[in-house]
Amino acid sequence: MTAPRFAHLLRPELADLAAYVPHTGDHEIRLDGNEAPPLLSSNARAGVAHALAAGGLERYPDPRATELREAIAAHVGATPDEVLVGTGSDEVIALLLTTLSQPRAGADAATILTPSPTFVMYRLSAAARGIRVLEVPLDERWDLDVAQMRAAIEAGEPNIVFLATPNNPTGNRMSEDRIRAVIEAAEGALVVLDEAYVAFAPASLAHLRHVYPNVAMLGTISKIGFAALRIGWLVGPVELIREVDKVRQPYNLPTPSQRAATFVLRELRAEIDHVVAHVVGERERLGRELGRIGFGVSPSDANFLWVETNRPAKDVFEGLAASKILVRSFHARGGRLANRLRITIGTREENDRLLEAIARWA
Ligand SMILES: *Cc1c(COP(=O)(O)O)cnc(C)c1O
Repeated sequence: MTAPRFAHLLRPELADLAAYVPHTGDHEIRLDGNEAPPLLSSNARAGVAHALAAGGLERYPDPRATELREAIAAHVGATPDEVLVGTGSDEVIALLLTTLSQPRAGADAATILTPSPTFVMYRLSAAARGIRVLEVPLDERWDLDVAQMRAAIEAGEPNIVFLATPNNPTGNRMSEDRIRAVIEAAEGALVVLDEAYVAFAPASLAHLRHVYPNVAMLGTISKIGFAALRIGWLVGPVELIREVDKVRQPYNLPTPSQRAATFVLRELRAEIDHVVAHVVGERERLGRELGRIGFGVSPSDANFLWVETNRPAKDVFEGLAASKILVRSFHARGGRLANRLRITIGTREENDRLLEAIARWA
């Protein structure tokens, strides 16, 4: 419903968008958001709490996030001037879209290209800015369809190509040779490799940043246990970072988040590895068990499983919700997503509860 008073001022694209509404209801077990299970030691928690409580309440945060950028640079093998930090990679995506929104020569609109299905924020954030979105379906194994991607790049002249690897919601990595082919075809565009889930995967593709000048990487601490801090980053060529930095609000990162994230990256490496090892172990166990009781489970390199149901996913989703377990269903998207669920890996107990409840819906 549009307020008539402002109708003539509104961006037309907003008519097709809806504000993000988180799931309500009292779910005892939430396996819907790709968050980490709460397995940090009390020592580690105390360290983060100490960093969060650091003083300076009257002062604005460090607008350059100097220490945090240094910590991220050390973490990913970059220099601090190759790093830009946002309130989650969500903000970084929005900043990139604002920065690189000049239509390409010969194109009638600024455009982005993504595979489908993938992380929805690329599409939502672009649409909210009046940027055209081209989507190319992933192939039958949820990998890149290079021929279709090439054709879309040629016809659509995108400003940015977003590739999440491992991909959300399908959990798999895209093949490196296909990624390379897309990067090479998209010479006039920026290709963003979003590695939000890289901690759960056997390897990173960060080396491609040094091979191709049109590549930048997205990273985040949200999926490894620190979603509450809202810290994500872009690592890319200095000439790009410098421009995006003009668009960033100078005080985008609250002091407690900067301090806590710096502590996390510098001091909690071993703790994080421990949480990640738990998640990966449980991912393999849960995948095996779900397969054994009749669900289709794709290979995952992320902290969630992409699960194919025999019954409509909506029924399974609702059945689980009745057991107070929340997962993510894609039934509303229809087509080949109509019988797909995305299930975040939880604690061992949560995963056991899920297995028990979902067995009835096999
Ligand atoms: C969850 C997710 C993000 C968002 O990360 P934030 O840093 O929490 O904003 C980015 N990319 C992908 C592919 C994701 O699944």
